[in-house]
Amino acid sequence: MQDKYDVIIVGMGPSSIFCAYELTKIKSKKKILLIDKGKRVEKRICPIKDTGKCLKCKPICNIIGGFSGAGAFSDGKLLSYHLSSYNKSAKDLYIGGKDDSYIKKYYPNSKIKAVMKYVDNIYLEFGEASSLKGMERITEIHDLQEKAKKEKLSLIDVPIRHLGTEKSHELFYKLEKYLEKKVDMLFEEEIIDLIVEDKKVIGIISKNKKIYADKVILAVGVDGSSWLEQLCLKYKIKKRNGYMDIGIRYELANSTMQYVNDLLYESKIIAHSKCYNDKIRTYCQNPSGFVTPETYDNGYTLVNGHAYKDKKSNNTNLAILVSYKFSSPFHQPIEYGFNIAQKANLISGGTVIVQRFGDLLNKEKTTSQKMKKNSIKPTMESAYPYDLSYILDYRTINNLIEFIQRVDKIIPGFANNDNLMYGPEIKFYGNELIINKNFETSLKNLYSIGTGGGLTIGLMMASASGVLMARVLEEKN
Ligand SMILES: Cc1cc2nc3c(=O)[nH]c(=O)nc-3n(C[C@H](O)[C@H](O)[C@H](O)COP(=O)(O)OP(=O)(O)OC[C@H]3O[C@@H](n4cnc5c(N)ncnc54)[C@H](O)[C@@H]3O)c2cc1C
Repeated sequence: MQDKYDVIIVGMGPSSIFCAYELTKIKSKKKILLIDKGKRVEKRICPIKDTGKCLKCKPICNIIGGFSGAGAFSDGKLLSYHLSSYNKSAKDLYIGGKDDSYIKKYYPNSKIKAVMKYVDNIYLEFGEASSLKGMERITEIHDLQEKAKKEKLSLIDVPIRHLGTEKSHELFYKLEKYLEKKVDMLFEEEIIDLIVEDKKVIGIISKNKKIYADKVILAVGVDGSSWLEQLCLKYKIKKRNGYMDIGIRYELANSTMQYVNDLLYESKIIAHSKCYNDKIRTYCQNPSGFVTPETYDNGYTLVNGHAYKDKKSNNTNLAILVSYKFSSPFHQPIEYGFNIAQKANLISGGTVIVQRFGDLLNKEKTTSQKMKKNSIKPTMESAYPYDLSYILDYRTINNLIEFIQRVDKIIPGFANNDNLMYGPEIKFYGNELIINKNFETSLKNLYSIGTGGGLTIGLMMASASGVLMARVLEEKN
């Protein structure tokens, strides 16, 4: 390890890994350092598997930090560049719900598609061949889309590649071994500040050391978004309020979702609510999956979900998220999200709340007794049975109820009283750094890629942003 590098990348999630990988592939002569406050991928073990409890691991939750970032424990559903009927009819490219992303502003669809294809091939090279879901039974997909249209729901059919949680782990282990021969890596080192001189970034400060670099790339993901928000305030880094996605993780019987799971694996359903005209969507569907807590570095626990390739449950889980965008003087979307999490954690003794859909409708609390009799058994047993109306606002609750009842018209059973709602699930990409075509922020020599600065959503686009960043650094774009 040296104390001066050409490039330092903070974070070792997919955006960072693919940036470093691409730099090695294009034979960059740059001296590169990757730093993460979490552990190597092989040392990342979530205690829930053995203890059934979230132990709030420090310095970072093993679900969301360390080599491969939030990717290691995710089940690796990769958005595909393949044309779906949505992409064809809209003459557009689905990149995960971020239509106004700077990637789309600066790069034409053809270029983004080519990078997605390139990334897909790398995932295949390091992982095992896994087929694309949602490319067959096109007539049935179209029939379901027509049915959805009648309810004013859009069902977006984007083919996805499913790797499975254990397989993602192996894949990222191979990438870690590949990269450590080529670049320097520092684990369990938290970056707490930047070194800024003459309005230029010249390095970073960790709890233990200062390291200098010509360019610093922030790839800090959702876990780092709160720190990033503070950096923006401190150094007046320009940003804009992006969408905040607030909602729940919904868990229901596989049998209810069977048809859609078989057809698409992941159903992306989007609607605008009749009650408020807010955008609501499903996200990250996990057939036979498990609901999981995710704990952030500030100690707050929220909910997420994943699916293993081999270990299966009887339930499917998916996020249902309502998108909000506030205008000035609002400027702290991350803080706002954590406020909601704080309420849930205070009420539940440090975890998230789970409520039966029927109880929410009837304005009743869910209790442990009711949960025992419930036909859907929770896959996250540590969630606290209670009442989501204590933590989610009236508008969000109404939006969620309306959405669930509308989806029930195309997926019978979607609004079953026994279905479980875990909350809150919040996506922390609302603090969007303003960047130029080269991913540089308004603070010179500081770059931002991936989820943390609000550029992308999901594994595929985080990885793609890393590849594009590398090409910019080597002027190969
Ligand atoms: C349970 C779960 C399941 C998911 N499933 C899917 C899926 O199936 N498909 C999909 O497309 N997406 C999925 N996602 C989302 C996906 O994992 C993320 O979009 C992706 O990992 C973002 O990549 P990134 O590089 O931007 O950041 P991240 O992967 O979040 O990595 C950021 C890294 O930065 C590090 N870091 C943060 N702050 C600091 C600091 N101050 N100092 C040092 N290091 C720091 C963190 O430790 C972390 O390792 C899932 C996420 C979770 C949590």
